[in-house]
Amino acid sequence: MKEINILSSKVFNRIAAGEVVERPASVVKELVENSIDAGAKEIVVSIINGGITSISVIDDGFGIAKSQLHKALLPHATSKISKVEDLDCISTLGFRGEALASIASVSKITIKSKPNDQDFGAQIYAEGENKGEITDCAATKGTEIIVNNLFFNTPVRAKFLKSERSEEGEITQIMARFILGHPEIAFKYLANNNVVFQSFGEGIESAFVSVYGVKTLKDCFFVNADKNGVSINGYIGKQYFSKPNRTYQTIFLNGRYIVDGTISSAITNAYSSYLMKRQYPFYVLNINVPNEFVDVNVHPNKTQVRFMNNQVVYGAIYSVISKVLDGQKEALSIITSDKTVEIEKPFIKPSENTSDIVRHNNENPFAKLDFNDSTPAISHTNIKPEIKEDKTSEANDIFLENKAFIEQLEKQKQAERELKNSQTEIAIDEKLTYIGQGLKTFLIYELGKDLLFVDQHALHERMLFDKLMAKNNLSDTCQPLLVPYIVDLNAIEYNFILDKIWAIKELGIDIEEFGDNSFKISSLPIYLADMNLKKFFDQILIDINSLKNITAKDLLKEKIAQKACKSAIKSGDSVTESEIEVLTDYIKKDLGLKCPHGRPVAIRITRTEIDKWFKRIV
Ligand code: ADP
Ligand code: MG
Repeated sequence: MKEINILSSKVFNRIAAGEVVERPASVVKELVENSIDAGAKEIVVSIINGGITSISVIDDGFGIAKSQLHKALLPHATSKISKVEDLDCISTLGFRGEALASIASVSKITIKSKPNDQDFGAQIYAEGENKGEITDCAATKGTEIIVNNLFFNTPVRAKFLKSERSEEGEITQIMARFILGHPEIAFKYLANNNVVFQSFGEGIESAFVSVYGVKTLKDCFFVNADKNGVSINGYIGKQYFSKPNRTYQTIFLNGRYIVDGTISSAITNAYSSYLMKRQYPFYVLNINVPNEFVDVNVHPNKTQVRFMNNQVVYGAIYSVISKVLDGQKEALSIITSDKTVEIEKPFIKPSENTSDIVRHNNENPFAKLDFNDSTPAISHTNIKPEIKEDKTSEANDIFLENKAFIEQLEKQKQAERELKNSQTEIAIDEKLTYIGQGLKTFLIYELGKDLLFVDQHALHERMLFDKLMAKNNLSDTCQPLLVPYIVDLNAIEYNFILDKIWAIKELGIDIEEFGDNSFKISSLPIYLADMNLKKFFDQILIDINSLKNITAKDLLKEKIAQKACKSAIKSGDSVTESEIEVLTDYIKKDLGLKCPHGRPVAIRITRTEIDKWFKRIV
């Protein structure tokens, strides 16, 4: 018979630590939430080596009294609830009373604090399970918590940490959310002693600018609307301002960061006619609903929520966002400012002064919306709207939209399946004769007794890929760019590219770091001379999540080479006769070629098949 043991607090804390403290980013999250709960107006977060070596959080909140300090590190220690009924009306961020105890059990932690009514500061140090004495110290009002050597006593957990750069990326993402979600608090966030973000507690616009920069502000609409009990407030990217991945999507529901399928599909569907496949809208939105609309899972670490009525939430968000994007008249009262008009001279970063530089941004002059309707509605710009509509017809609209969207996706998939089925194996020893080009897209050949259709772009892409992968030393085939190309990224993307920069360099692309979160490309291998660098980086960043996990070097290089080829193939019909010759020579070598993405390059249509079309045979 197995005996039932009561775990010692030592064992229990380490188990709890596994839940709360998964990685450095979770420590940052817990500590900053505590600072916010303590009413801080200023919070400074500083991390060293992705937070693995050190994390410090300093705040000016109400502090912890010396007499209470020893309790802060005990499991189930919290000042936020004391009785079961309190669980129903929690307004603070954390309330499980296990964060500090858990963090302390897997690190070397120092807590210094000075409440306003205490003349001196007091501090305590703990290392794993060993707590030191509480001693007096010099301190200003508030609390400072320093967490060193995370997981020093749990080597298994330490092993599961990702690279310092990825851990830093996670923390950066969390800090961006804190800044955007708490525009009333001044944050400063430093990584390895460099300031990454600094906000000033001056409201939503200033918080937005400290995370995304003033340039992005120009590319967004500021939305402020109430509809059917749902209030929507924040920034959405203009129609042309798409992003290659979802790292630019932030939703706060009733003040809390969440990830929710209903909300994100409402927004995405509102954008559907403006975005191409694999482009994602940009948004930072505060959505507020009455508490009874939503069942916020009580676990404070969860980012999911449940709505009482998904359709109401979906409908409200979809209709507000699409009104803004589609330029309907009602949008006037939803958009309270259009930054294109307001900002005449954007603040210029020093590196942006160089005029002979092409920037990686979306300056696509997409049909600008014309809100200058002559109706007097214009004077209501700053008044919160009460849009009254026939709810049923609107709901129908939404579901029709939805249905059409799904049907379109289905059609696309079906077409892809058909294409796959029509691939045929081709023998190499038959006579190949070029007949001509069709639809400015396909090269048509006679192959033995059959016809061969070749997708000229797929073939071109394949050829580039083979050349890139075959070359070991590309330095002699490089072509400098007339104007260096600069790519501006967010902190997460920047760290990612920096981590994989060797693979880009191995393709012969001359890329180097260039100021804050930017890279400069000065020359390209001759085969890629025409490549679209914006497209190239977009392509890489679309797959940031899958590429990040590739550890095999060859495989990663191959993936990056695929992206490069895709960005270098000729668009439209611009294939010259001499190029056709080169392509024909190439296809002759191997008729079964696939493009680097696995699509077929050539399709054979047999004589028999054609005869059947004309009922020559049955
Ligand atoms: P919880 O936040 O769930 O209460 P924690 O373990 O995170 O539990 O913190 C324990 C207690 O320590 C808190 O309830 C609070 O009283 C105190 N505390 C922690 N951090 C701070 C801080 N930065 N400022 C003031 N008090 C703090
Ligand atoms: Mg807490």
